[in-house]
Formats: sequence, C-alpha cells, structure tokens
Amino acid sequence: MSQSIRTRFAPSPTGHLHIGNARTALMNWLAARHFGGRFILRIEDTDRERSTEASEQSILGDMAWLGLDWDEGPDKGGEYGPYRQSERLVFYQEIREQLIASGHAYPCFCTAEDLEARRQEQLGRGEQPHYDGRCRHLSAEEKIRFETAGRQPSTRFHVQKESVSFRDLVKGEITVQKEALSDFVIVRPDGMPMYNFACMADDHHMAISHVIRGDDHVSNTHRQILMYEALQWEIPEFAHIPMILGQDRDRLSKRHGATSVTQFQEAGYLPDALLNFLSLLSWSSGSGEEILSRDRLVQEFGFDRVSRSASVFDTEKLDWMNGVYIREKTDFDTLARLALPFFRQAGYPVNDAAAARPVVRALQSKMEKLSEIGDKARIFFLDEAVPEDNEAAETINGAEPQAVFRAFLSATEGLPAWDSQMFMTVMKQIQQSTGIKGKGLWMPVRVALTGQMHGPELGPVTEILGLDLCRRRIQQAIG
Ligand code: GLU
Repeated sequence: MSQSIRTRFAPSPTGHLHIGNARTALMNWLAARHFGGRFILRIEDTDRERSTEASEQSILGDMAWLGLDWDEGPDKGGEYGPYRQSERLVFYQEIREQLIASGHAYPCFCTAEDLEARRQEQLGRGEQPHYDGRCRHLSAEEKIRFETAGRQPSTRFHVQKESVSFRDLVKGEITVQKEALSDFVIVRPDGMPMYNFACMADDHHMAISHVIRGDDHVSNTHRQILMYEALQWEIPEFAHIPMILGQDRDRLSKRHGATSVTQFQEAGYLPDALLNFLSLLSWSSGSGEEILSRDRLVQEFGFDRVSRSASVFDTEKLDWMNGVYIREKTDFDTLARLALPFFRQAGYPVNDAAAARPVVRALQSKMEKLSEIGDKARIFFLDEAVPEDNEAAETINGAEPQAVFRAFLSATEGLPAWDSQMFMTVMKQIQQSTGIKGKGLWMPVRVALTGQMHGPELGPVTEILGLDLCRRRIQQAIG
C-alpha cells in the first residue's frame, strides 16, 4: 500500500467517546501506523444544537488516554485544516454551488409538513418512502414565488444513476439499486451541510485515502460515492467494520452497562488492555494470540484479517485481559499514575504516584481492575487490623500464635532498619526460636498485620506498613 495513506476519525462532539467509536478510531490509527501514513482527527460539529465544546474536550482526552495520537487535528493544525466542520462552511458553500451549476443538485422548497404528508401517502400505497423529485424541475417563476414567500430552500442532490457499487475492503462488493436511493438533502435551509455532504467534501479536501468506519454507515457510503462521481473526484477506499453487540446479541448500548471510554477508565481498566481488547473485537492476529502489545498490533494489522461479522462484547474476557496487563506491567510509575485516582476515591492518604507505587506493586497480582484498590489497599490504611471474621479471629488466639507474636516483638525491638528482606530474616528467627513453622507461623502474622487470611505477599506489605505499625498491630493481637 502507498506511503501516502491517510485515515481519519471523525467524531461528532455530542457526548463521551463511545466504545464503538473508540474501536473505529483504533482501526484508523492502526491502519495509519501500520502503513506509515497519517492519522487525522476531524470534529464533525455541524449539528450546532447537540455539539458541545465539553464533548470535544472529553473525546480528545479519551483518545489521548488510549494513546491514539493523531498527526493533524483541531488542536494540532496541519496543512488540510481547519479540522472542525463548523469552521469549514465556505468550502461546503463552494461545492454546493458547483453541484448546482453542473445540474447535480437543486434547491428544494418542500416544507417538513409537505414531505411528511407525501411520505404517509407513499406508505399508504405500500411504497418505500422516497423523495418524489417535486422540486427537481421548478420553473423560474415557481422559484421566485417561493422565495418571495420567504421560504428558505434546502439543497438536494439529484440521483441520476441506476445503481452504485463499490468494493469494500472488508465486505467485498456492495451494490445498491436506484430504488433505495432518492434525491437527498445535502444542505439544510439554514445553510448547514448535512453529514454525508460535509463528510465527503472533507474526506476529499483532507486527502483521506481510506475511510474506515462502522458498517452502520454503509448506506451513507453510496450517497457519498454518487457525490464523488458528480464532482469527478477520486473515490477513497472504504472499509466498513461490523458492529459490536452486547451479550444478548443486540447492538451494544447503555443497557449493557459501561459504553463510553470514560466509564471504562473510571472502572479501572488500563488503556493498553482496553486497546488490545477492542482490536480483537474486529480483527484477529494470524498467530491466534490474544495478548498483543500496541507495537505488535501495529505490526500485524491488515484489512485481510478484519472480521466480517459482528462481535460480542465479552466483559469477562476484558476483565481477564486487564488482569493480565496489570500483572505483567513492569512500568510501575505508569501503573501508579493510573491507579492514583482510585486511592483518592477511596479517601486513602496517598498524595502522589510515588506514594502509590509500592502499594500498587504489592497488589499487582491481586487485581483485575484498578478500581479494586479501594478494597484491596484497605489493609495499608487501617488504624487497627481487626480480624475480618471468626475464622481469622481464631488464627490469632491460642498459645502458638501468641508465642509467635511475642517472639516477633522481641526480634524487632530496636531494629535500626526495616524492609521486606528484614521481615523475612525476622520470620526465620521466630521459626528457630519457637519451633513453629509453615501455616502456624505465617497465618497468625498475616491476620495480625492485615486482619485477613488471604492477601498480597507479606514482605512488601510489612515494608509499606513500616516497623512501627507492624509492631503496633502485632501488639494489638496479643492477649
Ligand atoms: N461523525 C460521524 C459519526 O460520528 C462520522 C462517520 C464517518 O466516519 O464518516 O458517526
């Protein structure tokens, strides 16, 4: 494929970044990075009522969190800008005039009420609703009459072809016959362009070579192709990726739980894990492997391995994958930075990533999601490690556990330094002096220090707690 491949992600800033759109962004990003091309971010904000600055910021923030960096965009600029559709109205105006002049578009004065009445008639006759072409051939007088009556026309594209076909990079040949295509509006009466028109104009002007998007857009693609042809513009490649479904095989929606990237972030997923998971919703590696780093995804991406059928969003699999990513992460600074909000949320006195780091490291093998920090890190911040249940309480009562605790206190009295290593040495000493070993030695100490019978490795736990707190908790378990 050519060096000059250019892909784009074109969100409408009308809410958070939906997981399906994040998947679309990812596919475009992977294609651009794999083929050494450029990835463009374009904001499609022509729906002025629903578009907000806050949504745009949130989408950009979520993209950045996922690590989907773009080469050109509203915040970055680039030689094909501006990258916000609301700032490109003059371009659309020009193209609209060009289409009218060449007989491919015309002003349409039909009102919403007229159109609805005729739609009902068509339905009554058992016809597929379509624009009947009423304004296609208005006389000059009729136009003047409407204009003097103050009617603002929309602009319609005149469909003159019998059918439209294109070869989709994922789905293969797709053809639509004329019956399914009636003249469609490209510019609203208020002068704002419709999605199909603005999108096509921008994809052309921004030299987009590959349009990769969800297959809910297939029916738009035909209309866009008709306009490319009318303007005698080169048609980009199209790749339509199948929908994401919920477990019940219905299209993924709020009903199924978290659907925005923000929600997944708040639920404690790592960006790399979510990215890996999303990539496998529409694509698979030739090797069949599932845990694939960002670099490998970029390396292995290809349209030939994009799946043709819809995939089911399997939260259990995502959780598993996230657990793998947490466990295998060796960059503890990044892990701590990602985990910091969860310490804050739980109200733990952890002020920066440096303070979060040892705790995150100690808990690393015990979590599938960072949101478990609230629960799992509690042991580090308790005033008193009270046994969590009767069974735990049992393990610290009795002659043996109490002997272990006394030995612990005497072995640690006045120790000048304390760390994980030191704790292990102390435990060895206690074993020698008391003759108690294995579970009988370790379980009482675990419960005295954490209140729990299961948990992270004790060495790192004691290092985080510090010698004073360890001694205090052991003291509390005596008697
Ligand atoms: N703004 C459109 C959307 O969010 C873009 C679709 C496209 O990629 O062409 O659905």
